[in-house]
Amino acid sequence: MVKFLDKAKIRVISGHGGNGMVAWRREKYVDKGGPAGGDGGNGGDIYFIADENMSTLLDFKIKSVYKADSGENGGIKGMHGACAKDTIIRVPLGTLVKDLKSGKIIADITKPEQKVLIAKGGRGGRGNARFATARKKAPQFCEPGEPGIERILELELKLIADVGLLGMPNAGKSTFISVVSSAKPKIADYPFTTLIPNLGVVKKSDGGAYVIADIPGLIEGASDGVGLGHEFLRHVERCRFLVHIVDLTAENPVNNYKIINEELRKHSEHLGCLYQIIVLNKVDAVDSDLVEKYKKEFLKLSDDVFVISAIAKDGIDKLLYFMAKKVDEVPKPEFNLDIDEDLDAYNNDDSSFEIVKLGKDAYMITGGKINRLAKVTDIRNTEQVIRLQNIMKSMGVFDEMHRCGLKNGDTVLVGHLELGYYDDEVWGETDSKL
Ligand code: GDP
Ligand code: MG
Repeated sequence: MVKFLDKAKIRVISGHGGNGMVAWRREKYVDKGGPAGGDGGNGGDIYFIADENMSTLLDFKIKSVYKADSGENGGIKGMHGACAKDTIIRVPLGTLVKDLKSGKIIADITKPEQKVLIAKGGRGGRGNARFATARKKAPQFCEPGEPGIERILELELKLIADVGLLGMPNAGKSTFISVVSSAKPKIADYPFTTLIPNLGVVKKSDGGAYVIADIPGLIEGASDGVGLGHEFLRHVERCRFLVHIVDLTAENPVNNYKIINEELRKHSEHLGCLYQIIVLNKVDAVDSDLVEKYKKEFLKLSDDVFVISAIAKDGIDKLLYFMAKKVDEVPKPEFNLDIDEDLDAYNNDDSSFEIVKLGKDAYMITGGKINRLAKVTDIRNTEQVIRLQNIMKSMGVFDEMHRCGLKNGDTVLVGHLELGYYDDEVWGETDSKL
């Protein structure tokens, strides 16, 4: 069966920073030129942008891996490598983004054209021109670019509608939305015709507009995962209120109404309490006595009961007037999403670290930034190893190592690097500019 795609898992990898360059100036009448290696360009960032015209996450079933371009390497004559273009991924409005590793929600995309940084590109490495000091006039050293960040994300689409349409299959929801709004859903006289929640824009008399969502039919047991309805319920969670369409030609309209409400309650307390307008539909096909009888019964359950014929467009104006008023009155529910606003989660500055004791004389230092730096450090290049240590020193790693009681001769693993700990030698005096 075709399924509306409102969940997707994707992998994003921001761009690798370009490497710095080791180069020397060579000029015609100059005997020995200075260092002239340029910096590498930054790797591309990955952004999400909200796209009003997208309505499903189908695109992400087709393409689930997004990799940003790498920055260019630095060049000779002090030429810097170009920074990579950012990768922009368009997502539907209402997309909730969760980082599967941390389990945290990192973005809730609710505004048109909202732009969110998802993964920052790796920094370009500096060329040797940047490392020249008074003491070290000819640095043989340049930095490699930092690798990009990889994140596994779960996208979940929650529609941003003001009003949710609910009711049994065949109650006339699709017909109603096609009559009152711009949406043109498929209408059929058998259950489960609407596989995608249709969004329609309803114009108000004051010139404003609001969005109404046609949620496909709920059936008994849906909140236990039996029917389609359960999957769709989370889309109505953010509506201001619900319009509950009841089919008067059904055998037991009151019972149907109660079944749907029971499903709502089972799904969430919030939905169960959400304000509803009751709309009795298909009045054209039912005896007027029966209509009166049902109307009375429903008025016992709610003050706001309307009788319409969606097909004959009967009673629609009065209902629309009331709905517009309610849209102005009822605020959108606020959700405490616990969004991880901490930018550290998606930039390269996560400098927190941990020192883990592996055995009697062995420790491991691990942390986002430290691991990334270790990854680009060549153990055979002393200057690179010294630079890594200087950064670790400025991050407070050494102080922490003292506190942890490391002693001379201990083995310290940093990423893939295996180093020996010698308090005054290896970790000692280094060129601070490196
Ligand atoms: P949904 O499943 O709730 O979306 O229902 P649909 O809008 O697809 O309608 C189901 C059937 O009921 C279709 O055959 C419609 O033509 C019919 N229907 C919808 N509204 C009315 C109405 O006001 N009167 C009558 N007689 N039939 C209606
Ligand atoms: Mg329908």
